[in-house]
Amino acid sequence: MKANEYDIIIAGGGAAGLMLVHHLLHSILAESKILIIEKEKKDQNDRTWCFWTKDKTGFEDILYKNWEKVIFKNNSTTKTLHLSPYKYQMIRGIDFYQFVKKEISERENVTWVNEELKSLDSQNNFVFATTDKQTFRGKTAFNSIPIKKPANISSRKNYLLQHFKGYVIKTVENNFDPTTPFLMDFRVDQQGETRFGYVLPFSENEALVEFTIFSENLLTEEAYKILLENYIRHQLDINDYRIIDEEFGVIPMTDIDLPEKNDPNIYNVGTRGGMTKASTGYTFKNIMDECKGLVQKLEKGRIDSISNNKKFRFFDSVFLHVLEKNLHPADKIFSDLFLKNDPRLILKFLNEKTSLREDIGILSSLPTIPFLKGAMYTIFSTGTKNLSTDF
Ligand SMILES: Cc1cc2nc3c(=O)[nH]c(=O)nc-3n(C[C@H](O)[C@H](O)[C@H](O)COP(=O)(O)OP(=O)(O)OC[C@H]3O[C@@H](n4cnc5c(N)ncnc54)[C@H](O)[C@@H]3O)c2cc1C
Repeated sequence: MKANEYDIIIAGGGAAGLMLVHHLLHSILAESKILIIEKEKKDQNDRTWCFWTKDKTGFEDILYKNWEKVIFKNNSTTKTLHLSPYKYQMIRGIDFYQFVKKEISERENVTWVNEELKSLDSQNNFVFATTDKQTFRGKTAFNSIPIKKPANISSRKNYLLQHFKGYVIKTVENNFDPTTPFLMDFRVDQQGETRFGYVLPFSENEALVEFTIFSENLLTEEAYKILLENYIRHQLDINDYRIIDEEFGVIPMTDIDLPEKNDPNIYNVGTRGGMTKASTGYTFKNIMDECKGLVQKLEKGRIDSISNNKKFRFFDSVFLHVLEKNLHPADKIFSDLFLKNDPRLILKFLNEKTSLREDIGILSSLPTIPFLKGAMYTIFSTGTKNLSTDF
């Protein structure tokens, strides 16, 4: 094999790219010649991943924190949701990047290039990846480079942004209960959108506090700052604190088709490959599971279709449509969901593991008319709608 030729090319060394490398290095394909093309150094803590699981993930050594219960809050109620057998777990981006980069540094067959990918396509059964500096040839590629928001999409499809600003703060007083995050705190003005606070307590006086919005457009930097600081002051009742880190994120929540493959030998993974659950934005656990599954399929020499459960895709579309069109106040919908159902059943539902009988139980707790309207729209609408392309 020539210097610039590889068995596997991985475009993007973020969550999915590195998860794939990790599983490849623990498989019978561990000796394959692997190339990762990533434009960033990935030496910053650029994000925090949370997910729930009741199983071992193999990443226990880099868990920053895990919790057995979470709190749901609205203006009138505070409910503690006991998650057992699930745990809500948190991994910091930097710990994950360092963990996999260490595995890579111990292998001579894996190359990391810090270059910007310009194109990735297939020709004559080979894949060609061209960066700003050179072209590489590979047998198979996995692409995790984030997609741009399309300019227009079918009116049957939905596209919302989940955007959030967070501070890791250190408080003077002991303001937090380190055993219990706030999963959703709806004691904030909804402004006709979905808006809530999110608190991940690390100790009694340190936490990541975020202000999250689901909407079509982003805000200005100043607007996030005001919303977050007001939330800390007025809802959390904290006046004396120091900011020790910051986080900003945008996650597309969409049911547009994100094909797992649009070129022979090039597979889309991560958010690009549809691993973000459209109705929640949670992605990381799907990346864990799907990358592991992909490598198992590669070991058998064949990647057939990645699971695409039509029932849950339909539920995601309806839920997104109800939120996007504000058919019912979002804080009321989430209150119905979290206050009327067993939390373990909600997590099972969000993990897409519930039976039809369990689905009906959950769906019947939600407001009937808006969800019926959402279902009708999802089934019968046609045409296209234009979207702004600022993300
Ligand atoms: C701040 C933040 C917090 C999040 N928190 C959670 C959470 O708590 N739970 C959860 O489930 N999900 C969360 N998500 C959503 C999701 O898990 C992450 O976005 C996850 O990182 C997606 O993985 P990915 O591999 O698809 O994309 P990324 O991790 O973004 O990886 C893509 C990589 O491609 C690189 N790249 C882009 N363009 C090029 C190019 N032209 N050439 C070379 N490299 C390029 C980027 O630098 C990046 O490293 C969060 C997202 C963000 C942004």
